[in-house]
Amino acid sequence: MVFQVELQRAEQLGIPYVVVHPGAFVGSSEKEGIDKIAKALNEIHAEAPELTSCALLETTAGQGTCLGHRFEHLADILDQLDEPDRVGICLDTCHVFAAGYSLAPKKDFNATMRDFNKLVGIDKLKAIHLNDSKKPQGSRVDRHDHIGQGHIGEEAFKILLQDRRFKKIPMYLETPKGDPKEELFDPMNLATLRRLEKEK
Ligand SMILES: [Zn+2]
Repeated sequence: MVFQVELQRAEQLGIPYVVVHPGAFVGSSEKEGIDKIAKALNEIHAEAPELTSCALLETTAGQGTCLGHRFEHLADILDQLDEPDRVGICLDTCHVFAAGYSLAPKKDFNATMRDFNKLVGIDKLKAIHLNDSKKPQGSRVDRHDHIGQGHIGEEAFKILLQDRRFKKIPMYLETPKGDPKEELFDPMNLATLRRLEKEK
């Protein structure tokens, strides 16, 4: 299995987590797709008890038949694992927003996180991908945008960055990198995030 090889490679390199999209359920039902993912993870874990690198299931935008856009999907996968401690979650802001979850204002952000905590558990959250979204909330289309320039907007990132629950969780930019001429995108997005983190 390809993902098993990836985990082994990560182990050799001392990388603690490997992010994986839960996958599509083409040709079967959502439930069958979820069960299949859980079964695959159980097999990987059973075959490689020595592996300490963990899979992080990433929240998806729900494009096409892609699973993982509802927190219920992730909860259902985790529930079926023989060794749930060997799997965590990576939350992608663009994906959850495109999947339909609200990230601002604060009241709505907190409602989304309450939902996440109730179904999945904040303690399972091991990484966050920071991306704005070129497509509207609930569009179920996965198109990353620069921080503050998409449909999510600055407010949501400010709330997230200033929330103490997420202070110790590593965050990653997956915003568009562009061609070589546009190589200043990362510093621009980082500067925006640093400003929002401090903003009153
Ligand atoms: Zn991502």
